[in-house]
Amino acid sequence: MMNQNKIPQATAKRLPLYYRFLNNLHIQGKSRVSSKELSDAIKVDSATIRRDFSYFGALGKKGYGYNVEYLLGFFRKTLDQDENTPVALIGVGNLGTAFLNYNFTKNNNTKIEVAFDADKGKVGKTIGNIQIHHIEDLENNLENISVAILTVPVSEAQNITDRLVKAGISGILNFTPARITVPENVRVHHIDLAVELQSLAYFMKHYPLENEGE
Ligand code: ATP
Repeated sequence: MMNQNKIPQATAKRLPLYYRFLNNLHIQGKSRVSSKELSDAIKVDSATIRRDFSYFGALGKKGYGYNVEYLLGFFRKTLDQDENTPVALIGVGNLGTAFLNYNFTKNNNTKIEVAFDADKGKVGKTIGNIQIHHIEDLENNLENISVAILTVPVSEAQNITDRLVKAGISGILNFTPARITVPENVRVHHIDLAVELQSLAYFMKHYPLENEGE
């Protein structure tokens, strides 16, 4: 088994994508998949897929493809699919509410277990079975939780981040536009939906994709 640390970061980022697709194939009863099929389905070029899979110790055979079961086993181990990752959500506004209702159950074992808000009208309610606590009680309700999703107003982002870090949170998925500052040992992934949309529109305009069918 390959040492997980030796997988390049760009490859590691594609793991959940591969996992989800292969899991669907497995559910459909497929035992093999070619890099071309994968490439068409998940829009990653097949040379990249072949290189990624070689890191996983999976060698595709010509005319046979990759063994779905083997790859799934590898992904489960590497992604710790058997382990639960409880998550806290801070800020139950429009976006936070959507996350509580969605709650990632279709994907894997990451699950929001607890939510916080400053609005007394929201505190004490449950959304998607998750109870909303007052932000004042943050530190008392983070037991066993190391990951937080940040969906508070931008003006609150740094202050809440500081409290999360002090309380032992080591990973933050930041949906606010704020560029938050954290100590070196805390990992922040930033998702700014407005920037992503703008960037998509920009690329569509300036780098139009070729239509292969014509
Ligand atoms: P809404 O329609 O509920 O106002 P929104 O997403 O448009 O949602 P935002 O102003 O972005 O509203 O706030 C998101 C959520 O963060 C709101 O539910 C708000 O009550 C909450 N919030 C604001 N300040 C804090 C804070 N310091 N700690 C925790 N939650 C906060």
